[in-house]
Amino acid sequence: RADIAMHRAKELGRNNYQFFTAAMNEQLGERLRIEGALRSALERREFVLHYQPQIDVLGGRIFGMEALIRWQHPELGMVAPSRFIGLAEETGLILPIGAWVLRTACLQLLEWQRGGRAGLRIAVNVSARQLAAPGFVQTVAELLAETGLAPRCLELELTESFLMQDVEHAIGMMHQLKQLGVQLAIDDFGTGYSSLAHLKRFEVDVLKIDQTFVRDLAVDPDDAAIVATIIALAANLKLEVISEGVETQDQVDFLRRHGCRQMQGYHFGRPVDAAAFEQLLLADEARAQRGGGAAADGA
Ligand code: C2E
Ligand code: MG
Ligand code: MG
Ligand code: MG
Repeated sequence: RADIAMHRAKELGRNNYQFFTAAMNEQLGERLRIEGALRSALERREFVLHYQPQIDVLGGRIFGMEALIRWQHPELGMVAPSRFIGLAEETGLILPIGAWVLRTACLQLLEWQRGGRAGLRIAVNVSARQLAAPGFVQTVAELLAETGLAPRCLELELTESFLMQDVEHAIGMMHQLKQLGVQLAIDDFGTGYSSLAHLKRFEVDVLKIDQTFVRDLAVDPDDAAIVATIIALAANLKLEVISEGVETQDQVDFLRRHGCRQMQGYHFGRPVDAAAFEQLLLADEARAQRGGGAAADGA
């Protein structure tokens, strides 16, 4: 790969050649450094899960959460997944990391359920590489059996790119996962290339409207139209629909008006660590006791 890039750099001219190789060396060094650090991060317990609430705005209650990984690096501090998930996928390290995420998320949810919130559901991101690896379904089955978690409380977020990479394989995988009883969601819906014809064949339960459409709802009529269309599509196909990246009351109002009641975004709460999420659950509980749905109006 470096050879090809170097060749390209050379084509751009002799002066650029020096520049590109230096930059590339630096980049390669950075990658190797991160890859090495990623390898030991699991053993050193440097990964943590943060949890972001998912709200049903009709009742104003938290009905679930999405688990989002962070890397607490001793020198770099809190590293966002966008900076290491890609490399973890390329190197295959996403397999042990993903297994850790699934297990940690399930155990954490069980703890919260036992604390009196039996209906809570957790959404976990699963990368294409994990799903393509042999034994993924088996891993999930074993995890459910071992923990005793009700399968319907586990939602796996799949990406459109996985679904479209090999449609027949994806359909087979989804069928096996559905037989375990877990929920399946398509993450970032609308940004990939899943065709409506395929959507009919996918045994998916939830569409997650991508945050890029939600973000510009108020200013971009095209985005507003896309969001309204996805909500209508979900209703017609009898799928659940959740909007992500909800940041403003205007967005809440628009989404509600168009029939989307499940939302996730900074307006309701940022992803936080387990201890802080527990406080959110307590506040949610207290509000419900008082009979209010204040969470729906934002935190
Ligand atoms: P995603 O699954 O689409 O997750 C939503 C992302 O949007 C999260 O970023 C979340 O913090 C952010 N977000 C939530 N609400 C808002 C909002 O109101 N405004 C804005 N601007 N952003 C919001 P995060 O945590 O940095 O994760 C980024 C991506 O990394 C995720 O996108 C997902 O694709 C991937 N990822 C995260 N955790 C995992 C994991 O455990 N496994 C895998 N395979 N991928 C993961
Ligand atoms: Mg997600
Ligand atoms: Mg998403
Ligand atoms: Mg995303």
